[in-house]
Amino acid sequence: MSSTLQGPVDAYADVSAFYDDFERWLAAGPPELVNAVAPETSTSGQMAGMRDLMKALYSEGWSRYGWPVEMGGLGGTIYHRAAMWEALARSGVSKMGAFEHLEVLGPTLLSLGPAEFVSAVFPRFLDGTESWAQGFSEPDAGSDLASIRTRATAMDGGYVVTGRKIWTSWAHYATWCLLLVRTGTAESRHRGVTAMAVNLKSPGVEVRPIAQADGNDELAEVTFDDVFVPADRVIGAVDGGWAVAMDILSHERGTFPWFRHCFLTSQLQEEIEFAAPHADALLADAILDLASSGAASAAGLQSHNEDSPLGPRAAFTKLLLCSAEQSLYDWTIATDGDIAADPADSSAMETRQRYMFSRIVTIYGGSQQMQLDTIAKRILRLP
Ligand SMILES: Cc1cc2nc3c(=O)[nH]c(=O)nc-3n(C[C@H](O)[C@H](O)[C@H](O)COP(=O)(O)OP(=O)(O)OC[C@H]3O[C@@H](n4cnc5c(N)ncnc54)[C@H](O)[C@@H]3O)c2cc1C
Repeated sequence: MSSTLQGPVDAYADVSAFYDDFERWLAAGPPELVNAVAPETSTSGQMAGMRDLMKALYSEGWSRYGWPVEMGGLGGTIYHRAAMWEALARSGVSKMGAFEHLEVLGPTLLSLGPAEFVSAVFPRFLDGTESWAQGFSEPDAGSDLASIRTRATAMDGGYVVTGRKIWTSWAHYATWCLLLVRTGTAESRHRGVTAMAVNLKSPGVEVRPIAQADGNDELAEVTFDDVFVPADRVIGAVDGGWAVAMDILSHERGTFPWFRHCFLTSQLQEEIEFAAPHADALLADAILDLASSGAASAAGLQSHNEDSPLGPRAAFTKLLLCSAEQSLYDWTIATDGDIAADPADSSAMETRQRYMFSRIVTIYGGSQQMQLDTIAKRILRLP
């Protein structure tokens, strides 16, 4: 679905007017913003703050711009969403939490999901009531995603799903999971994969959080034991889930980096006053890498807006985001960081979490090596 034709947006056809008014609203210090930016190192605390903020943004209308009217939005383009998150980042919001999946999964849900089901659930995603997880990776299927084994067997009125997913971000905060399952034979690889929306509160679903070294508890393992999924929750075609997955990865690698880039830029601005002269060369790297990542991800927004997905070119955008995030935190640590921080010092703990996250950014959404592999094979056509 083109993001340029999403319904009436008369009040804010001009995105810069939208940005200015939204910035004024933020500057007045709404309590949900004040809570969301208050120091908080627990993931559950951060998520609670984000949920309340999403509710306020929805009820005031801000987060509805950029989404189609029939899905709970107020029309407009991806530039409205990009502007809203940029202003939030400048106001001290440091991450999207589970609502990053609005940008990773949302566009695909809208373009390939069953309209009746998606129009019933999407407004609850937008207004912060319910969030979504992305169930792709399995213990033996990460880079080699086509080898997934979680199986959906057809039965009257739907499917029964059995299997195990891992590294499922935000699953224990989510109501829904966009799940990739095997519907073809074990040998069918990417041809026998289907995407479906599974309610994580269904009988037979177990979600176990995974303790992370950085102190976050974003990740989880999810098992499905004979879980019934109604037929109207299939996204895309039966056995056509690979196209759904590729569409999602194109957003995750090609447009989501813009949203992450906004937070990184704000963090650079926040930290720059503490800069130490000996770290100047690292600062220069961080600034250059952020500029490259910003330019590439802005191009990703433009492609999305023109309804011309980046496809394999999104691998470049993801690689540039990885460089920017790592350079920024190499500099931050050289300047200001004590990563063996005192757990009682919430600001130092936050820096430690951010530094450690910058090391794993090269894995989610497909590892750095797999992005290089995509560029080699699908763009450079190397043998
Ligand atoms: C913070 C975070 C959040 C995540 N969130 C989600 C999520 O929400 N949903 C989800 O489904 N998954 C999620 N993942 C999982 C992520 O997609 C996988 O970890 C990733 O695809 C790599 O798979 P793997 O861990 O199985 O590693 P493997 O595929 O086992 O790879 C191990 C190493 O071998 C390298 N390698 C493998 N194959 C090749 C090859 N052919 N050529 C060159 N090198 C190769 C890889 O680059 C990597 O360095 C998340 C991961 C992280 C770190």
